[in-house]
Amino acid sequence: MVCDWTNCTALARLDLIAGSGPSSARVVGSFCVPHASMASLDVQDQGGEPTWYDWHRERMPVQPAATPAPRGTAAVIPPFTLPPAAARPRW
Ligand SMILES: [Zn+2]
Repeated sequence: MVCDWTNCTALARLDLIAGSGPSSARVVGSFCVPHASMASLDVQDQGGEPTWYDWHRERMPVQPAATPAPRGTAAVIPPFTLPPAAARPRW
């Protein structure tokens, strides 16, 4: 996918998100890095909303180095070792 900016053919790298909280947040578009910055300024000018970015994940075979390393495999409890129903937490 390419940048949503008019006439820009660069690959979209960032999703621009606008809104002041999880309920109002929406994805404005997917842009290359410089246009994500410019679109962010546009949104702030027009709506006065805070904006932030997320990685555009459409095709990212290589994860960024910031991805936390997995903490190892979680223990698996076979069903037959589960405690009796009365001892289990109620969900
Ligand atoms: Zn662009």
